[in-house]
Amino acid sequence: MGGWGSGVSRGYSTTDGRLRLSIRDLRKTGNLVAGKFWLWQWSRGSDQSGSIQGSTETEKIVLSYCQRTDSGEWQDISFPVWLDWTDCNYGGKRAWFRCPFCGQRVGVLYNGGSRFACRKCLRLNYKCQREGEKDRAFRRAHKLRVKLGCRDSYTSKWRIKPKGMRWATYERLCEEENYYGNRGCQIAMTALMKCTLA
Ligand SMILES: [Zn+2]
Repeated sequence: MGGWGSGVSRGYSTTDGRLRLSIRDLRKTGNLVAGKFWLWQWSRGSDQSGSIQGSTETEKIVLSYCQRTDSGEWQDISFPVWLDWTDCNYGGKRAWFRCPFCGQRVGVLYNGGSRFACRKCLRLNYKCQREGEKDRAFRRAHKLRVKLGCRDSYTSKWRIKPKGMRWATYERLCEEENYYGNRGCQIAMTALMKCTLA
């Protein structure tokens, strides 16, 4: 029985760090045939980062794995995922997973805590969307600095409360500027660390 820790982050994250199960890979390895039992393993570098057992039936696959609960105990989970087939233009059939949550046809499912679901249901962002998020945060911080009358709008140095602005407003804007500036830096740093480690 395979398993992985409970260290799956909550909220938004990129698809990079998730365990993914692709229907194309399953088919390529001959595991999408009814009656098959298979083991799927993931590794990060030389370490195994997770594994699941699966069995394929005519209309679904059943995933079996161990999951650590919030209280730290291991729990056996058996989880069906329905399959769907569409005709290809040049003959043959293409296989799809039906996302267990939204029912959409998808080619890849991601592990989200104790379940597998599509990217949308797990609210995952692709790396490029993350890039957009970083730029938006920096732009926002930049605008706030201009509003705050910073002499250098690329850093928050020489910040002086503009004449006529209330202290409460000034403090709120400073806080916002700090938040967005830090957020942009954080995303940029994470991306950089990933590049360095890869
Ligand atoms: Zn979904």
